[in-house]
Amino acid sequence: MIMLGAPGSGKGTQAARLSKEFDIAHESSGDAFRKAAAEGTEAGLAAAELFERGELVPDETVCRVMIEHIVELTSRGRGILLDGFPRTLGQAVRLEESLGELDQEIDAVVHINIDRTEIKRRLSLRGRADDSEDVVQHRIAVYDELTRPLVDFYRDRDVVVEIDGNHSVDEVHDEILDKTRVAVR
Ligand code: AMP
Repeated sequence: MIMLGAPGSGKGTQAARLSKEFDIAHESSGDAFRKAAAEGTEAGLAAAELFERGELVPDETVCRVMIEHIVELTSRGRGILLDGFPRTLGQAVRLEESLGELDQEIDAVVHINIDRTEIKRRLSLRGRADDSEDVVQHRIAVYDELTRPLVDFYRDRDVVVEIDGNHSVDEVHDEILDKTRVAVR
């Protein structure tokens, strides 16, 4: 399963709950980079410098890390919920190729829709280093330009589930469960 949504859409929060519900691995690319940055690895620090400015980490770096995790989890027979990856068409194509090689399929792409005013309200409460107002503006612009096109990419593959993310965590969770039960079984 893939979670798709703008910054502040709640995809990370929902991913954490869903992965428990479905007993599948929660793979967050943002968490992977924050962890690498906190550990002070060279790659982690290079990534931190980018995401503090609201820029994306290069496809090559992201794909190397995420596809390695996917291969490993798949070899152990684990289902996976991807949170924050893919975020560009290049990443989506790479993922599709890798899943093909692994003989795996995407069951559902959960697209969480959220209003701009709600995004700004939530991110102003969260207080992460990359949540300052100008960085948020930039992250939204990057989302619109590079990530939003993935919705059409996956619509063509008939796997998109549309969710209204403007409600409470519980309400959004319930809507996702209702709409994905069939896809995930
Ligand atoms: P997130 O926690 O998903 O909002 O990710 C935090 C930051 O990590 C993003 O703003 C990007 O700088 C970087 N990042 C996470 N996932 C990706 C990805 N798939 N492609 C490029 N950069 C990413």
